[in-house]
Amino acid sequence: SLTAGIVGLPNVGKSTLFNAITQAGAEAANYPFATIDPNVGIVEVPDERLNKLSELVQPKKTIPTTFEFTDIAGIVKGASKGEGLGNQFLSHIRQVDAICQVVRCFRDDNITHVSGKVDPLDDIETINLELILADLETVNKRLQRVEKMARQKEKEAVAEYNLLTKVKEGLEAEKPVRALEFSDDEWKLVKGLHLLTSKPALYAANVSEADVQNPDANEEVQKVKEYAANENAEVIVVCAKIEEEIAELDGEEKEMFLNDLGITESGLDQLIKRSYHLLGLGTYFTAGEPEVRAWTFPKGIKAPQAAGIIHSDFERGFIRAETVSYDDLMEAGSMGKARDNGRARLEGKDYIVQDGDVIHFRFNV
Ligand code: GDP
Repeated sequence: SLTAGIVGLPNVGKSTLFNAITQAGAEAANYPFATIDPNVGIVEVPDERLNKLSELVQPKKTIPTTFEFTDIAGIVKGASKGEGLGNQFLSHIRQVDAICQVVRCFRDDNITHVSGKVDPLDDIETINLELILADLETVNKRLQRVEKMARQKEKEAVAEYNLLTKVKEGLEAEKPVRALEFSDDEWKLVKGLHLLTSKPALYAANVSEADVQNPDANEEVQKVKEYAANENAEVIVVCAKIEEEIAELDGEEKEMFLNDLGITESGLDQLIKRSYHLLGLGTYFTAGEPEVRAWTFPKGIKAPQAAGIIHSDFERGFIRAETVSYDDLMEAGSMGKARDNGRARLEGKDYIVQDGDVIHFRFNV
């Protein structure tokens, strides 16, 4: 499954946030096959629609879908020069699908900042520069290999050579690859290079307890937002310390606590939802009496592959997917009525599954 890696300089609140993630952790009983890796935090994806479906169907069990965060320790200046920890740090980043960088926007004179002052843009650039340098190395190596073939005017090699040159120029101007403009075809090639700065990125601006209600009053947050907009990255605001407290609460308690703070959604819930979105993931539902459940799928896949997420037998023996959109089902009020008014469709193997579909798969065993 896809995962977002959490990175950050020392003392920015990374461990505090990761603690909140593991505290909030998904109920292990529901996910018996989940990997147990201390660096991975599995959280349930908050989804109002699942709760509403559950109210409608009244199943024995309701199971949310999950999302994984990976704690990536040990960013050090000079990581790209490949010394010890640095190498490890980069190889961990290579393995994640999106990068979530925690950035310190809170002031606290008792907590040292590695560079001596709270300056989120400087922090972001420190980390990004290491990733950019690592990418430059990858691109230069690749260029050397392609150059000869390009000189012989081999068509594909020429295209790749030109693209690599463009990427190289961008990196040399200290731009992450995700900030560069590409055609769809170019982007396909770029993705194949598995560059670190082409991964989708999200900044978690860690603010103080006092700033949670009105984070836009925090100048540093504003700066991070501007910076992110220029490089096609996203921003969420959290107070890691408060998230740690919230993660210990459940349902009603959590709602009351958020009410008291004057916010509607916890930073962690925003982080989960935005990471999910950033990775191009969608959710479909299965809704039977024994169990109403949310399933994660990468957007764009067809019905049989979506069935395969539940069980490989479902994919192999796929016949049809009886499908109704969440909105249509809620409007109809029951599956029976959705069938009567023609909103429930029988979809075949070429159907592209949509976010919010409620599906009943029919299959041969
Ligand atoms: P890491 O080195 O990035 O993992 O940082 P930690 O999570 O260990 O946090 C460093 C220090 O900052 C700890 O003393 C935390 O309690 C404190 N800290 C983290 N987040 C916040 C926050 O939102 N507000 C305040 N005031 N302190 C925080």
